[in-house]
Amino acid sequence: MARYRGPLCKLCRREGEKLFLKGNRCYTEKCSVERRKYAPGQHGQGRGKLSDYGIQLREKQKVRRIYGVMENQFRIYFHKASRMKGITGEVLLQLLERRLDTVVFRMGFALNRREARLIIKHRHFLVNGRITDIPSYLLTPGNIIEVIETSRQIQSINESLSIAEHRGIPSWLELDIKNYRGKFVRIPTRDEIQLPVQEQLIVELYSK
Ligand code: SF4
Repeated sequence: MARYRGPLCKLCRREGEKLFLKGNRCYTEKCSVERRKYAPGQHGQGRGKLSDYGIQLREKQKVRRIYGVMENQFRIYFHKASRMKGITGEVLLQLLERRLDTVVFRMGFALNRREARLIIKHRHFLVNGRITDIPSYLLTPGNIIEVIETSRQIQSINESLSIAEHRGIPSWLELDIKNYRGKFVRIPTRDEIQLPVQEQLIVELYSK
């Protein structure tokens, strides 16, 4: 599966806001958005007012970048969401929150989604007792995620977990740090997914 391999901070600067793609650095003054509050590139400082289409497009790009999903895959999520019960924009975000890489990140096994994808691909996780190395794997309520026993010494996983212990995890997840295990308890509501996005704009964009 194709994925973006370029600099992450550039993506935040393009959207003009922090997308928290890196981890600890995002909370310090080293954050590139804090230091350079304009879009990257030669014309970054001269961009004018956006059209309605431009606003919708930027919102879609922002969500795509937060979750690290490529365009084709994102479109598939949208079509899947539009066929499911509920408000399409909300269902879209819920689908993205059900991805294994997002859950691994939110549980605190990784500092960011990119790192989560890497450790999943390296086969360090079990889902319901089976090795799962697909970052886009969609979890359902009740699924158990666990670090395999031989990977419990990995430094980055332990460092991330100690940060998560202080930070806390979302209410729709459970974490048993001692046993390197977590549970996807339920699908979050829109209010619980605290992202500064207007998903309705994405629905409008794809509905043209
Ligand atoms: Fe974005 Fe984090 Fe880089 Fe800041 S440090 S620009 S929030 S990825």
